[in-house]
Amino acid sequence: MSTAVYTLESNHIVYSLSPAHPPALAVPDGATVRVETCDCFENQIQREDQDFGTLDWNRINPATGPIYVEGAMPGDLLAVHILDIELAKRGIMTTGPGLGVLGAHLAQNAIRFVEIDHDQVVLPGGVRTALRPMIGVIGVAPASAPVPCGTPGDHGGNMDCTRITTGAVLLLPVSAPGALFALGDLHAAMGDGEVGVSGVEIAGRVTVRLQTVRGADCPAPMVVSARDVSIIASAPTLDEAAEAATTRAATWIAKAGHVSLADACMLLSAAGRLRICQVVDPLKTARMEVDRDLLRQLGIQLPV
Ligand code: CA
Ligand code: ZN
Repeated sequence: MSTAVYTLESNHIVYSLSPAHPPALAVPDGATVRVETCDCFENQIQREDQDFGTLDWNRINPATGPIYVEGAMPGDLLAVHILDIELAKRGIMTTGPGLGVLGAHLAQNAIRFVEIDHDQVVLPGGVRTALRPMIGVIGVAPASAPVPCGTPGDHGGNMDCTRITTGAVLLLPVSAPGALFALGDLHAAMGDGEVGVSGVEIAGRVTVRLQTVRGADCPAPMVVSARDVSIIASAPTLDEAAEAATTRAATWIAKAGHVSLADACMLLSAAGRLRICQVVDPLKTARMEVDRDLLRQLGIQLPV
């Protein structure tokens, strides 16, 4: 295992995840990398009264990368250990006509700055809520066609999953040599659903350890946390995403736990947590959370 810490600055960005992108950095398997990120507007918003028309919409959702992990090959999993998330002092929220769940009811675009005050964020109106840093866009190259960073999928991308945070390990399926990992779109806080189209969008720096896993038989993307795992799926509708996350979880539990699909389904029906990640991106994202204690009782081993 490498002990050096690599750094990738936020001028190394991509707007899609693609096997065709040249790596911005190559690191040995097991390397620790500090990845600096712009906010999802590529730091273009400087004033609350700024006109959306002044933004270059081709520069939305940049991800810093891609990082080539030596030895990672198609069929492997990439385990992304999220060691630390450092945030800038101020975040930004936006919403407006045609954006988010309330897009049909909003007359004007709105931009609000959101100050970070120690372990709280100060929302419009002065309401305080807990600082809950998370990573919105995080993924590897898909097998063939590029996927815009704003779109989630089985390669990761814009999953906007609140469980992708410090201390968690995200498992991603490697489809291109070197994995070509990238991340961006940090949030100081985000509600499940991200209903207004933005979290508290913020620039920052994420420290990750990138480790390949061979021969594992588990669904991905999957977040492994101290208490539970979250099996993530994205699809054109929330119903389809929920069905896919549930089906992946049940199929895996049945096979790895040597129980029938019906029994695995009952386990999820009794003790799983089907949750919404986001409903505002080109594909919608859901997750099925399963406590690790339940997996342990069935003798299911996690690869990390
Ligand atoms: Ca996002
Ligand atoms: Zn975001």
